Amino acid sequence: MSLSQLARSINESPTLKLNETAALLKEKGEPVIHLGGGEPKSKAPIDAIVSCASLLQTGDVKYTPADGIPSLKKAIIRYTEEHYDRLVAPENVIASSGAKQSIMVLLHAVLDPKEEVIFPAPYWVSYPEMVKIAGGVPIAVTARDGGFEPTVEEMAEAVGPYTKAVILNSPNNPSGVVYTDAFIAGVVELCEKRNLYLIMDDTYNRLIFDGRAPTNCYNFTQVHNLDSSKLVVINCVSKMYAMTGFRIGWAIGGKELIRAMTNIQSQETSGPAAPSQWAAVGALNGVQSSIESLRLTLENNRNVMMTRLGAFAGVRVVKPGGTFYCFPDFSAYEKDSQKLSRMLLDKVRVVTVPGREFGMEGHLRISFCGTMKEITEGIERIKWALDPGAPNELFLGDRKLVRDWR
Ligand code: PMP
Repeated sequence: MSLSQLARSINESPTLKLNETAALLKEKGEPVIHLGGGEPKSKAPIDAIVSCASLLQTGDVKYTPADGIPSLKKAIIRYTEEHYDRLVAPENVIASSGAKQSIMVLLHAVLDPKEEVIFPAPYWVSYPEMVKIAGGVPIAVTARDGGFEPTVEEMAEAVGPYTKAVILNSPNNPSGVVYTDAFIAGVVELCEKRNLYLIMDDTYNRLIFDGRAPTNCYNFTQVHNLDSSKLVVINCVSKMYAMTGFRIGWAIGGKELIRAMTNIQSQETSGPAAPSQWAAVGALNGVQSSIESLRLTLENNRNVMMTRLGAFAGVRVVKPGGTFYCFPDFSAYEKDSQKLSRMLLDKVRVVTVPGREFGMEGHLRISFCGTMKEITEGIERIKWALDPGAPNELFLGDRKLVRDWR
């Protein structure tokens, strides 16, 4: 079989692969605990379901405009006004099949071959691969202090003649870190000075803890006319509304850019699935209490996760300010995160994601979007597997595990 150079250079999404592995093991009756997940357990809001079902009941499910139905654009405009204090025009909005597609068509719309896209490490697994698919070169910036937020100077050092765009994702997948306002303001300024696109991936924008308010990147821009601005904000209903399977995301940007993205999307997939768009309309226009209840649940889960990890000698963890991920450093136990993740799955049936996939070796991404039982039992199993001082035996249901390693 002859495959393209591109196909040979793109890696499978490790998180989706782990979902598959976990599902297969579960099917076989294995007592798997999935701490690698990237989606809330809660159900989609009822307003989303009712709105989607009303379209389905008509049986009239047809193509939509490539950039989304007018009702969805209207709902997105209202959302942007409420949460970003910006009144945008329908021509500033494109709805896509998930935030992933919005980012992908955006990269296709702005990158010429070999142009570079900069983002801080740790980063969402898909950024490097998406940049490569669009013909560009991904450049990760790692903080010299070993933390999760590089300095603006470190970001600026990575800017060169081929740099076209910067991506910031805050709250961040995988670290859960909420970047400081000073950092975001500094990167906005850097991009405006150097004429770079700044892609703000706000997928987890409102899943934020400790009484902090979600960051509004528009507060830091000096370019007030959106059509002359290179700031693009990405959002979706996937995480905040627990609607990952509906596949609806969107981008807000200058009209010329949005038109170019729409042209690409129209040739690639056409508009997103009509039932999903109507579901997103329902979610955005409906009762909003599900977000706060999800946020509160996650904050509580985060607190329990921190207590459990805190009792784990040798593991260093930064308290996540948002999302449903934490990114502890397990290098005191094992420096090779893929080996460690594999071992935890093999020995104690706990799914974690190796830090290497996110550009930071020695860490594991551990999700706290599951149930309390999954969190506490999952961490207990990890501790049992790694802590040489733990008893030699562990019961998983009626199965007795004996520690025959170390
Ligand atoms: N950005 C980030 C940072 C994400 O974590 C994800 C999903 N894991 C996405 C974008 C993609 O979202 P969607 O499911 O809407 O495509």
